[in-house]
Amino acid sequence: MGFFDCISSDPPIEIFRLTELFNNDKNPSKVNLGAGVYQDENGKMSTLSVVRAVEQSMAQDLTLDKSYLKPIGQDSFCQACLELVLGKQSSSIIENRACSIQGLSGTGCLTIGLKFLYRNGYKIGYISSPTWSNHGSILQSIGFDVKQYRYWNKDKLNLDIDGLLQDLQDAPENSVIILHACSHNPTGCDPTHEQWQQISDVIKQRKLFPFFDFAYHGFSSGDLDQDAWSIRYFADHQKHELLVAQSFAKNFSLYNERIGHLMGIFSSTDIIPKFRSQLTTIIRQIYSNPPVHGARIVATILNNPTLCLQWKDNVRAMYERIQSMRQLLYTKLKQLGTPGNWDHIITQHGMFAFTGLNSRQCQILVQQHHIYLMNDGRINICGITQNNVDQVSKSFYDVVTT
Ligand code: PMP
Repeated sequence: MGFFDCISSDPPIEIFRLTELFNNDKNPSKVNLGAGVYQDENGKMSTLSVVRAVEQSMAQDLTLDKSYLKPIGQDSFCQACLELVLGKQSSSIIENRACSIQGLSGTGCLTIGLKFLYRNGYKIGYISSPTWSNHGSILQSIGFDVKQYRYWNKDKLNLDIDGLLQDLQDAPENSVIILHACSHNPTGCDPTHEQWQQISDVIKQRKLFPFFDFAYHGFSSGDLDQDAWSIRYFADHQKHELLVAQSFAKNFSLYNERIGHLMGIFSSTDIIPKFRSQLTTIIRQIYSNPPVHGARIVATILNNPTLCLQWKDNVRAMYERIQSMRQLLYTKLKQLGTPGNWDHIITQHGMFAFTGLNSRQCQILVQQHHIYLMNDGRINICGITQNNVDQVSKSFYDVVTT
């Protein structure tokens, strides 16, 4: 009898199961619209040209070593991140109320940020319905009482702003509200500026704590300043205290380097050393200190105006490809006369489209058409190419009409 004879397996995580099914499928015309990874027009994930250039020069630089970073990461990286998100003229930066620390991509930064909040008395966490599945899972693992606020109106295929505002209105004081700063995953629905103002008002009135998840900076509009609008409005205009967990997985295509930053904006500059000290403890207990490679790449690019412009062009090119594939899919669905309103395919933002296909239709797509998508109808638009768009749209037509 072994110690672990009685343990059971956890339920499979949908996105990993879907990717495995896709990898095992021998059909040459299979299409992967599952995992949120950017692919180019040939269906390939590639390293950004600006990242490749920086890596090449880093490889020649004999002064770079692999010694430990401090737990909260590299200072030049953190300062550059602050300015990227808030803009150089940010009042939060000028008043010295903003602080960033390096973390393990979006997931790691969400985790350490939530741990910080939990140990300081925040016990209730609100997530949008629906949301990226890891939000609830991370909150729960830390001990939060997890609640949902309404987000998606499945009849109108858009943002349920009234439901959202009502649920925040009813939330207990000091609840943490996880917000997607842009490119909401999975719905692709971002609040308008007016709606963000309403959300900010209710968060302030009800004394709730906003925590922005910023995983798709640049993917909503192609413009990095515009995509940071919600955070800048909350931080600089409305003077909220808040946290931001930013991932550089998508916009730098640095998925497996696990690079991101956690930003805190506080009511006074005195909080910053305490925040840094508590985060040092939290990180020390989990992984002690972060890896350097991704931080060096991002810091080198953000701190060099020429490289930074090249990166912005790279981001813009990814955005434009996504937009053109949205338009192409929409046009093909319309040309086929596919029943239903498909306008949301072109009005949603970011990497994903929330198609409105039901789970039965999604399963048929996977099992019979070799088109892999999440069971809630989310598709990664980057998986669409000129070569497969006819197959994808025809398959959508088939499942909608049978
Ligand atoms: N938040 C959201 C909404 C996401 O979609 C993702 C990536 N799928 C992340 C955070 C974190 O990703 P990573 O940990 O790879 O940076």
